[in-house]
Amino acid sequence: MLGLYVHVPFCSAICNYCNFNRGLFDGDLKRRYVDALLREIGGAGGAGADTIYFGGGTPSLLEPDEVARIIAACTASFDVAPDREVTLEANPETVTRDRLAAFRDAGVNRLSFGVQSLRDDELRRLSRLHDSSRALAAVDEARGAGFDNLSLDLMMWLPGQDVDAWLQSVDGAIALSPEHLSLYLLEVYPNAPLKDEMARARWSQAPDEDAEAMYLTALERLDAAGFEQYEISNVARRGRCSRHNLKYWSDGEWLGFGCGAHSTRAGVRWKNTSSTEEYVRRIGMGQPVAEDLRRLTAAERLGDALFTGLRLAAGIDLETVGTRYGVDVWERFGRELEPFVAEGCLLHEGARLRLTRRGMLLAHEVMTVFV
Ligand code: SF4
Repeated sequence: MLGLYVHVPFCSAICNYCNFNRGLFDGDLKRRYVDALLREIGGAGGAGADTIYFGGGTPSLLEPDEVARIIAACTASFDVAPDREVTLEANPETVTRDRLAAFRDAGVNRLSFGVQSLRDDELRRLSRLHDSSRALAAVDEARGAGFDNLSLDLMMWLPGQDVDAWLQSVDGAIALSPEHLSLYLLEVYPNAPLKDEMARARWSQAPDEDAEAMYLTALERLDAAGFEQYEISNVARRGRCSRHNLKYWSDGEWLGFGCGAHSTRAGVRWKNTSSTEEYVRRIGMGQPVAEDLRRLTAAERLGDALFTGLRLAAGIDLETVGTRYGVDVWERFGRELEPFVAEGCLLHEGARLRLTRRGMLLAHEVMTVFV
């Protein structure tokens, strides 16, 4: 089954740390963009799909009827499973109970809120438009609107944040009883405005060992609260993993619609043109929007399957990968992986290869073996 990704590149303001493909909201451009999306989706299809994911940008800036039309285009073009997972990323300041109820009526059955922090000082430093009380209210409104599948994003290692401050957000998020949580480490990009602001205000990020403590302690608290870690950055209640995101980590296939969206299908990978205006223009002219279309080599496909599979807490089933790609994975990579096993970062148990939690902190080093 395919996953369908729909990119929505509009935001009410641009956060000082953001390096996603997004721009400032423009009502006219948004209307033209939605029309272009409908045409792109309408021209694809012919396969089964079981997830639809609206990512951004800020997808909750779309009107519910626009979301409904996009979902309808997906179901018209694809054989979308009745038990589909339809996720909408939402920023707390863009929603009300009525809007959320309308998104639900439109067919959305999972919300992913960009909460980031439950401390107002941290949210201000990130130039987010919401405060913690708005985030709490948004969760309440989502429950009131009937959503029983909520995910919250939190960011750790923020400027000026110590371990205790981080754990306040973790405990606050646990108290909200979401079905799913994603924990991301802030990466300060060289050209991010946040970098200059940090220099001016003399905010710094905590030392590396504190970042490790943030990650490990948060996961311990989430374990104790009944969440299961299923991926390096993601935990969920039983049965509430993100089915869409699992496709990225379990060698699945997906189609991306909209500007900058990536697709992987039948060993071919491509990316749509990044610019929103250019995307709309090309669709309007009936021109292709896909760029960088590339058939992956067998070695690249194997490398990707191992690289992404290792992100999963369950790790990689070497027999399945071996059968699919016709290689003995341990024979090929075992010698380079042995040191990580010896250090207690990697477990090689029968046909399974998985990172220990401590190994997840060093995941990139382990994964470079495969690429
Ligand atoms: S809301 Fe998200 S996508 Fe938009 S600017 Fe902020 S971080 Fe970037």
